[in-house]
Amino acid sequence: MIKHHPNDAILKNFVDGTLADSVSLIVSSHIELCEHCQAKVQQLTANAADSVFDEQQTATSNELDSFLADDIDFDFDVIDQITTDLSQSIEVELKTEQVTVADTTFTIPRALSSIARKDWMNLGKISRARLDFEDDAHHTSLLHIDKDGQVPCHTHKGFEITLLLEGSFEDEMGVYNKGDFIWLDGNHTHQPATKEGCVCLTVSSDALYFTKGVSQLFNPLGKYIY
Ligand SMILES: [Zn+2]
Repeated sequence: MIKHHPNDAILKNFVDGTLADSVSLIVSSHIELCEHCQAKVQQLTANAADSVFDEQQTATSNELDSFLADDIDFDFDVIDQITTDLSQSIEVELKTEQVTVADTTFTIPRALSSIARKDWMNLGKISRARLDFEDDAHHTSLLHIDKDGQVPCHTHKGFEITLLLEGSFEDEMGVYNKGDFIWLDGNHTHQPATKEGCVCLTVSSDALYFTKGVSQLFNPLGKYIY
C-alpha cells in the first residue's frame, strides 16, 4: 500500500501547471500508480475548471445561446470514425514498457515512455540511467540498487524526490514500497538500504552530500549518483 504522497500544495501546482517539468513528470508518474492521488487530482481539476467557468460564465452563456440557435447537422459516419480512431489510439497508449536491469524487471511509467534514456552506468550495487530530459536545474534518473545494497549516509544540498517503481527500501524514517513518493531536502539525513533490491525514479536539484566517517570519501561520487 502507498503511504507517501505528494502534499496538497504540490498536487495543486501540478494541476495548475506551475511545477518544473521534471517535478511534474515524477508527480505524474506517482499519480499513475496511486488511486488516492488520481481522485484528488480529478477533484482539483474540476475545481479549477469551475473557477474558470465562473469567470467566463457571462460571456460563455451568450456564445452558447447563439450556438444553440444555429441549426446543427451531425454527420454520424464521421462521428463513428472519430470514435473508432480514439479507441485505437487509447489502446496504443495503454501499452507499457518493461525494462530489466541486473535481474529486476520493472514497468516504465507512461509519463516517461516518450523520453530517451541514456545507458545504464554501474557503480558497485548502484546502477543509474539518466533520462534525456531538458530541465537544466534538475537531473532526472532511474536508479537501481541491487539486493542488500545501500547508499551511504547522506544529505542533499538541494532537494531529492524519489518515486519507488519496484521493490522496497528503508531508511531511518521508515520502510518504503512501490508507488511511495518521498521528497527530501537539506533538513534530512538518511541512509537508504534495500534487502530485496529496488528501482526508483529520482529528480534531484544538486549533488548528494555524504556526511559520515568513511563515506565522506564518497563525496566525489555524490555527483555521479544524483
Ligand atoms: Zn498518492
